[in-house]
Amino acid sequence: MMLVRLGPAERIAIGLAALTSLLVLLLDLLLGVFPPAGEPERMARVRLANTVSTQLAVLVQQPDPAPLLRRAMEQAVAADGELLSMAVRRIDGSLLAATEGHAHWVPPPGGGSSVTHLMVEVRRQAQPWGQVEMRFAPPAADWRWLQFMAGMWLAGGLLYALFLRRVLHHLDPGAAVPERVKHAFDTLTEAVMIVDRAGRIVMANRAFDGLHPQAAAADRLGKPASGLQWLVQAMPAEPHEHAWHRVMDSREASTGEVLAIPQPDGAPPRRLVLHATPVKDTRGAVRGALVTFDDVTELDRMNTELRAALGALEASRQEIEAKNRELTELATRDPLSGCFNRRALFAAFEPIFARALAARQHGDASGGGLCVVMADIDHFKSFNDRYGHAVGDLVIKAVARALGTTLRPQDILARYGGEEFCILLPGLDIDEARQVADRLRQQIERHAGEHIEGQGTLRITSSFGVASVAGGAASAQALLEQADAALYAAKKAGRNRVECAVLV
Ligand code: GH3
Ligand code: MG
Ligand code: MG
Repeated sequence: MMLVRLGPAERIAIGLAALTSLLVLLLDLLLGVFPPAGEPERMARVRLANTVSTQLAVLVQQPDPAPLLRRAMEQAVAADGELLSMAVRRIDGSLLAATEGHAHWVPPPGGGSSVTHLMVEVRRQAQPWGQVEMRFAPPAADWRWLQFMAGMWLAGGLLYALFLRRVLHHLDPGAAVPERVKHAFDTLTEAVMIVDRAGRIVMANRAFDGLHPQAAAADRLGKPASGLQWLVQAMPAEPHEHAWHRVMDSREASTGEVLAIPQPDGAPPRRLVLHATPVKDTRGAVRGALVTFDDVTELDRMNTELRAALGALEASRQEIEAKNRELTELATRDPLSGCFNRRALFAAFEPIFARALAARQHGDASGGGLCVVMADIDHFKSFNDRYGHAVGDLVIKAVARALGTTLRPQDILARYGGEEFCILLPGLDIDEARQVADRLRQQIERHAGEHIEGQGTLRITSSFGVASVAGGAASAQALLEQADAALYAAKKAGRNRVECAVLV
């Protein structure tokens, strides 16, 4: 069986209908508003009896009135469905004339007429002569009270319900929420709105007023929340998709819906996080929804600011890194040749030498090699003397370029000073290093002198000294000195050549 759940308006309407019925009953009891049962029928029958009797009294005067009387009475019985039989009786009790069925006549108790048995006296010359008897069908059962009650409850209940719905709607729906509860909600910084099952606003707290200039409208109570344009314009178009309707339909709370409420006069939109919960009664039926709005505008603004600050910080960090790289470059590179400077050479040399030394001590011949090549431009002074210092610089640059092009990434090329260069060749033994040095020597001899600006092709050569860590040097400095000694030997032997340090 389907249970119809009645709303408060319907329940009050039924109560009112019952009260009204009771009131009418009471008034009837005291004042007799309704005629007693059967009374209207009795009155009508008396009137009929009087009329018919007057006619019959005339016929009684006739000579041999019996057949006339019977015919007249039969006509009357035929004309009235409720009139069952009639008779004219003399005062001595004998029947003068009677219609069929009058044998059922039983004189009513007490001698007077009843609603079914009516008697009208007939007089002759002002003397009682006899009576007309009329037997009627019992009056139909009286259902009026039942009809009245049913009508009252049905129509009254319906009308009252309609009326109450209207009235309750116009009455303050906020009255559903007690004042002290409202005060409690007003103390919250969070905006709160309560809607009824139909989605009409029952309560909205003070923080809610601050969400939008139109939010504080005095007549908002009782109106559908989905009619708040300033609020729902940030929501889906269909009202049933609005959070409060959704949670009432699904009976599940929903949290974290983010809304951006546009503000008038170019103010930034308010960012709100909406939470909605269905409100259930003790039997678990959904009676409405509680909707809260967390204003995260300020948080959002601070987040944006923070992001901007972080972005700026990152940009300046990158800038600093670039500057640092530039500084490192400046600090480690020789500006003229672009090679490592002497300081950078020694910084790199120490760890490379330490690794090579360790490998040598462990007898690792394969990965542990390290050779140092010292290179010096032959008769460089004469370039300066003949073409000027600027051309001398160009020659240094050309030689540096020639040296750099054919080296491996792990090799280190540094300008050692003046027109001297130092090259570290990790992993190579003395023979391999000699080959590298000779290739570099040829490279300089063949190409370094080409296209020296303003001078055409110059003949540039260099001398090379090579030393290996395998020669037993105890320090980077010692290894350098061995290479330098070999370079000196190359110069001595006629220049434009490669000499290796003598192994001890
Ligand atoms: P050798 O074949 O014996 O090496 O003879 P050299 O003339 O190359 O040798 P020396 O050491 O006598 O001359 C080197 C000259 O290099 C001396 C110096 O004036 C010049 N010099 C040093 N640094 C620079 C520089 O940066 N630019 C120029 N243009 N000349 C430089
Ligand atoms: Mg020199
Ligand atoms: Mg020189």
